[in-house]
Amino acid sequence: MAPASRIAIVGGGLAGLSAAAALASADYAVTLLEARAFLGGRATSYPLNTGEEPGPTIDNCQHVLLRCCTNLADFYSRLGVRDQIHFQREFYWIEPGGRISVMKRGLFPAPLHFTESFARLRFLSLSDKFSLASALLAIRYEYGKRDDLERITMLDWLKEKKQTPRAIERFWRQVLVSAINEDLERMAASHGLQVFYLGFLSKANSYEMGVPSVPLENLYSNEIWSQYPNVNIIGRTPVKRVVIDGGQVTGLKTDSGFVNADAYMLAVPFERVDAIAPELALNYTQFSHSPITGIHLWFDRAITDLPNATLLDRTIQWMFNKDSGRHIQLVVSASRTLTELPRNEVIALALDELRDFFPLVKEVKLERAHVVKELRATFSATPNLEGYRPVSNTQFPNLFLAGDWTRSGWPATMEGAVRSGYLAAEQVTGFLGHRERFLLPDIA
Ligand SMILES: Cc1cc2nc3c(=O)[nH]c(=O)nc-3n(C[C@H](O)[C@H](O)[C@H](O)COP(=O)(O)OP(=O)(O)OC[C@H]3O[C@@H](n4cnc5c(N)ncnc54)[C@H](O)[C@@H]3O)c2cc1C
Repeated sequence: MAPASRIAIVGGGLAGLSAAAALASADYAVTLLEARAFLGGRATSYPLNTGEEPGPTIDNCQHVLLRCCTNLADFYSRLGVRDQIHFQREFYWIEPGGRISVMKRGLFPAPLHFTESFARLRFLSLSDKFSLASALLAIRYEYGKRDDLERITMLDWLKEKKQTPRAIERFWRQVLVSAINEDLERMAASHGLQVFYLGFLSKANSYEMGVPSVPLENLYSNEIWSQYPNVNIIGRTPVKRVVIDGGQVTGLKTDSGFVNADAYMLAVPFERVDAIAPELALNYTQFSHSPITGIHLWFDRAITDLPNATLLDRTIQWMFNKDSGRHIQLVVSASRTLTELPRNEVIALALDELRDFFPLVKEVKLERAHVVKELRATFSATPNLEGYRPVSNTQFPNLFLAGDWTRSGWPATMEGAVRSGYLAAEQVTGFLGHRERFLLPDIA
């Protein structure tokens, strides 16, 4: 039986929440302080109130996971919300003009499970497919074995593997820019290979795309947390300062007073750490951000019955069908070309591009539109960054770090954030004298 030691966590994003759930499951008493009124951090939702009418609740951006996100699934299980994630087995690729190709697993076991649908993909030629197949084979041999993958870009690797320009643009770029939120020419090859190794080659179902069936915040609402009476969540309470005395943390300073605990965890984005705990003196100069833009469109009629689609050769990368084809959420990852564009121009561009894929857009009426530009969506997963991502332990024995930017073994994703939360929670229990294991291994 673990002792009722008290742990204070700063930050109610997925890193902080997953650490809280793990520690609470092991009977620790957790106080979680969140600056905002709602939980979820960068993976959250809010009501879109315009004028006097209460609007729909929207996610800050469509968040998806793959079945290979084992720790995220475990976190959802701890909260009892795993059945709120619906997995889609079919990926739809649409070319301008509307031609659709479907990717789904077939009869062969992994890693050959895409053979049939791969052969039928219409947006790639035979030579594109041959080049792709040889690169996928190379991933099986090189992932986890080659030690320079963190130092080269994904584009370097693809060129080394003699990928055709169309395979690069229509396949690799289309999948990886969304998965890693970075361009192929800026992303470390290690992340790109990891996505394909775990998500596409390791198990026949690991590629399946999980989409929450409820607004993101409902996955971790206060009601859900009531099953953990040993977790005290305090919202609207930004931590101003980590108080350090005699080489260890003695409390957290907030506007309403001090919070004391036996161990402390900072689960805030990297750009927030210096203001709260300058004594950590972390080196962030290597970190930069990559933006994501989400575009919500509501039409008077359905424009499609596809549940999702990746749109080729245009700015918009993904379409998600949120409400029987009437509410469409579009996503552009690594969206640097859109960040300076006024919102009405982003909407005009989105409608213009959608007409190339869904002819009904020419006929329907747009009833409402909303653009979310997340300029600090994730850190940019550039080469040579891994060594700068800090581990959970710090120079102060009772202070620990979590967050998608710490050394989780994954890029900045929900799975990465949960992994970091579990890793930090493990270190906390070790410090408190009852070492627990929370992190689940990647699927082999
Ligand atoms: C637009 C967008 C789309 C994305 N799409 C996907 C996707 O499809 N799939 C995927 O896996 N990942 C996606 N991600 C990435 C994913 O959302 C993040 O990697 C993950 O949510 C980060 O979690 P975190 O807990 O590390 O950080 P955060 O979510 O940033 O949480 C940090 C929390 O700390 C709080 N905080 C900060 N300062 C203080 C303070 N002083 N005191 C108290 N609290 C404080 C913040 O308010 C915040 O709630 C997306 C991200 C964005 C922005």
